[in-house]
Amino acid sequence: MKFGGTSVDGLDRIRGAAARVKAEVDNGYDTIVVVSAMAGRTNELAAAAQSVTPLMDAREYDAVVANGENVTAGMMALAIQELGVPARSWQGWQVPVHTNSTHGAAKITAIGTDAINGKFAEGMKAAVVAGFQGVSAEQRVSTLGRGGSDTTAVAFAAAFGAERCDIFTDVDGVYTADPRLVRDARKLERISYEEMLELASLGAKVLQTRSVELAMRNKVRLCVRSSFTDAPGTILCDEEEIMEANTVSGVAHSRDEAKVTILSVADRPGVAAAVFGPLAEAGVNVDMIVQNISESGRTDITFSCPVEDVGRAGELLNGIKTSGEVNFRSLRLDTDVCKISVVGIGMRSQSGVAARMFEALAKYGINIQVIATSEIKISVLVARRFMELGVQALHDAFDPKGV
Ligand code: ADP
Ligand code: ASP
Ligand code: MG
Repeated sequence: MKFGGTSVDGLDRIRGAAARVKAEVDNGYDTIVVVSAMAGRTNELAAAAQSVTPLMDAREYDAVVANGENVTAGMMALAIQELGVPARSWQGWQVPVHTNSTHGAAKITAIGTDAINGKFAEGMKAAVVAGFQGVSAEQRVSTLGRGGSDTTAVAFAAAFGAERCDIFTDVDGVYTADPRLVRDARKLERISYEEMLELASLGAKVLQTRSVELAMRNKVRLCVRSSFTDAPGTILCDEEEIMEANTVSGVAHSRDEAKVTILSVADRPGVAAAVFGPLAEAGVNVDMIVQNISESGRTDITFSCPVEDVGRAGELLNGIKTSGEVNFRSLRLDTDVCKISVVGIGMRSQSGVAARMFEALAKYGINIQVIATSEIKISVLVARRFMELGVQALHDAFDPKGV
């Protein structure tokens, strides 16, 4: 059972979550309870670290931001004990949750199950685990990237062979679009791992992308549900379990994108590698890439990346502007774009989805700047001021069915 930030925001909510844990214990289950920091706490801690120095040692950043979860883990264990259920809390290093050393975005490499299983054998009924954190091989505290408690929960479900992994949050399931943006978004009864993976990586933050990847790989039965109501949530499952696939199951958006255009670069083998190699090394998260045919032997390359990476990308590209291999004329940076995407496994067997998408946007005069597709998604980059309108227009056009 994983409880997100709003679900543990204050004592009343922690008590509410504890009551849910007790109910499962009363059903006969041993439970692992993964908790996030209280809503907003991780942002405050990140700002505190930032206030010391913006160019900080990522290991110390982790040492600071991991603490929000430590507080809620202890409080949750106390609240569960108060209900008469034997419980104790565990920080990442105590479990231990081993990770690699990519501080700020660490990957879980292994979870030790002996200590917790030992306590279950002694009669403990609820192991409360601080989400989002682990310990590196150098014995340093690491964190898993924003939204990482979802990944902690799925990784524990896989490691302990859990029967279910319930993600309790402030919405009662996965919707056909962010319900904060699209008022008539509908809740999905089921969604395939593949679709959820696309939605998450395209901006639907209801689940961290890596948690979906892990669930898919380990066949974890994942359910996204409300911590405030008893409404049935959304179940993640294999594609084969979905009887009638929507053409489009969901619309996702990502607000803070940037577009980089390299103008007049030589059109010959090795140039793209010379551009994108250094960008990758610098950790610039390049997403969509477009290059057109050229008649003059020179061409333009456009790519998108998160706004937070664009300064680094610009600096780096200007640094190699006149190097032999690359040698481009000029660089254009646009930090005023967003990405909207439609996702659906039904797209595999249907043609004309792209045309319908482009028509829906054209109807509102929304200009498409960059397009990218995969088998089950189409994404476009548009001016940021069109984000809400674009998402709503696509939701209206495809009218995905929910419950
Ligand atoms: P938690 O703190 O519980 O992890 P998050 O804020 O990380 O919660 O994720 C839940 C939020 O995800 C919702 O409040 C909602 O605004 C947002 N969201 C974005 N896209 C979707 C979607 N397709 N379905 C449901 N929620 C979504
Ligand atoms: N507290 C962390 C964050 O805000 C992890 C999480 O909530 O999943 O990103
Ligand atoms: Mg979250």
